[in-house]
Amino acid sequence: MGIEEAPSGILLTSLEKFVGLSRKASMWPVTFGLACCAIEMMATGTSRFDISRFGMEVFRASPRQADLMIVAGRVSQKMAPVVRQVYDQMSEPKWVLSMGVCASSGGMFNNYALVQGVDHIVPVDIYLPGCPPRPEMLLNAILALHEQVRQSPFGVNREAAVRAAEEAALAATPTSQMKGLLR
Ligand code: SF4
Repeated sequence: MGIEEAPSGILLTSLEKFVGLSRKASMWPVTFGLACCAIEMMATGTSRFDISRFGMEVFRASPRQADLMIVAGRVSQKMAPVVRQVYDQMSEPKWVLSMGVCASSGGMFNNYALVQGVDHIVPVDIYLPGCPPRPEMLLNAILALHEQVRQSPFGVNREAAVRAAEEAALAATPTSQMKGLLR
């Protein structure tokens, strides 16, 4: 009998919980920083804030070994294809945290050089406001994301869901030159 045929879905529910717990407790961020917010992200790894309490001290140099992208800082038009390439190289399932107002909306840099929100480039799972957000705020956002991950049900096509989110972001604030980045 397959797991999905178990009485009342008890096994499936337990497996979902187990996988959710495992995923949230073994998240590895990709080593990646764009601007001043990255300094606060680095501080989060120091002993004072100690991100290793959440099993996340291993910032991976290879995107293939990472499942969390923390977009820490403003995204220039020049860096946009690189951000997308790093995202594409990360293994599924993967998550994106947009750190600070610049990454989330362009912030105070409302000009042609910067992408007005990293959700034009990659799907974002959680936004963290602030300029810069302090390490405690980043930890708080990470814990909220952990909760999202823990409660993610099976059977949801994340790829389709994130594509829909990308299309919605582009439709809301079109950035035509970014459209070619979405596959
Ligand atoms: S939000 Fe503030 S600290 Fe972060 S990249 Fe923008 S200007 Fe720098």
